[in-house]
Amino acid sequence: MKLHEYQAKDVLSRFGIPVPGGRMTTDPAEAGRIATEFGGKAVVKAQVHMGGRGKAGGIKLTRTAEEAESFTRELIGKRLVSVQNPAGMVVEKVLVAEQLDIAKEYYVAVTLDRAAQKDVVMVSAMGGMDIEEVAREHPDAVVKLYVDPAWGVEDFQIRNAVAKAGIDAPARRQMQSLLRALLGAYVRVDASLVEVNPCALLADGRLVAADAKVTIDDNALFRQEEFAAWREQSEDDPIEAEAHRRGIAYVRLGGNVGVIGNGAGLVMCTLDEVARAGGKAANFLDVGGGAQADVVANCVDLVLMDPNVKGLLINIFGGITRCDEVAKGILTALDRLNIAVPVVLRLEGTSAEAGRALLQGTPIHGAETMQEAAERIVGLVSA
Ligand code: GDP
Ligand code: MN
Repeated sequence: MKLHEYQAKDVLSRFGIPVPGGRMTTDPAEAGRIATEFGGKAVVKAQVHMGGRGKAGGIKLTRTAEEAESFTRELIGKRLVSVQNPAGMVVEKVLVAEQLDIAKEYYVAVTLDRAAQKDVVMVSAMGGMDIEEVAREHPDAVVKLYVDPAWGVEDFQIRNAVAKAGIDAPARRQMQSLLRALLGAYVRVDASLVEVNPCALLADGRLVAADAKVTIDDNALFRQEEFAAWREQSEDDPIEAEAHRRGIAYVRLGGNVGVIGNGAGLVMCTLDEVARAGGKAANFLDVGGGAQADVVANCVDLVLMDPNVKGLLINIFGGITRCDEVAKGILTALDRLNIAVPVVLRLEGTSAEAGRALLQGTPIHGAETMQEAAERIVGLVSA
């Protein structure tokens, strides 16, 4: 789960990381009022989950409150497109913050390095908008400090990393405490990424987080209740919101073929097969391993909430999941719900024969293979 910049700064400030003053708003007049608190000298920043907002025209330094208001009016409802995100995202809210007098831009982050099987702290004196290019062309300019899972990192290691990165002398002490605080925040909030770019050295010598990115590990949301609540509020797709409430792994995709499968990999393959057969999948849904009948019925119910769904493809390969349990779930769904769309089912693996026998005499269409199932449902939906 990605936090917006204004939320990320709120979280980081609780761990002692200095952040500029400012507030989020959806209202241009309010944006003007917030800018007034900074004497009109503010920065208005689009709050969208994408990198490269600066280059995409989503950030403006203002001189007056009127400027902050008119830029906000221009920005709200506009689609921002960046190199990182060519499809773009529509702006719904902005952060109006104190404008900083930036002398130097650094880069700092903590994330998980899967290959090293360790968390890694990264620091670079070459921060700012082109950090991806820096990482590619001057990898040595980004100093990495791996975190020992048992011992953590020692202060001398942080000191060394900061010196090696070439952080300017007046900022070194502050950078050391900032990295310590950033690592603490990363661990405490169950983040998979915390990033501050730019971490700005101001003309007056202070080091502050001018931008912030925090991603919370979704698997930790059960114990990060505050962030789980933030997600509920920010969710704009009502079916995805309902799926999270029910604990179902569902993503809305926009087509008309509803898809249910077991295992993320198998579901991805099913989406590909639907596309290959000339159809458009309505969703991704993974019922998970060992799904019981009521879970399956619950998933069918969820997928059919999407009014675009004109047919349902269920693709199950039974390993831990038993096909007769899945069949019972489908029977429950047939019984409880008024299923008005065709359903194609491919059932293979553990107890497949028992499962198929249970579904004899129901309106479910059987298919032998995933390809056949995809072609069948696409044919039925287009007929
Ligand atoms: P991103 O492009 O989405 O990463 O957005 P950032 O928040 O990093 O902003 C992009 C760039 O805008 C930064 O690298 C800064 O150079 C500039 N910027 C952002 N806030 C301020 C500010 O308060 N003062 C100044 N002078 N520049 C800023
Ligand atoms: Mn940035």
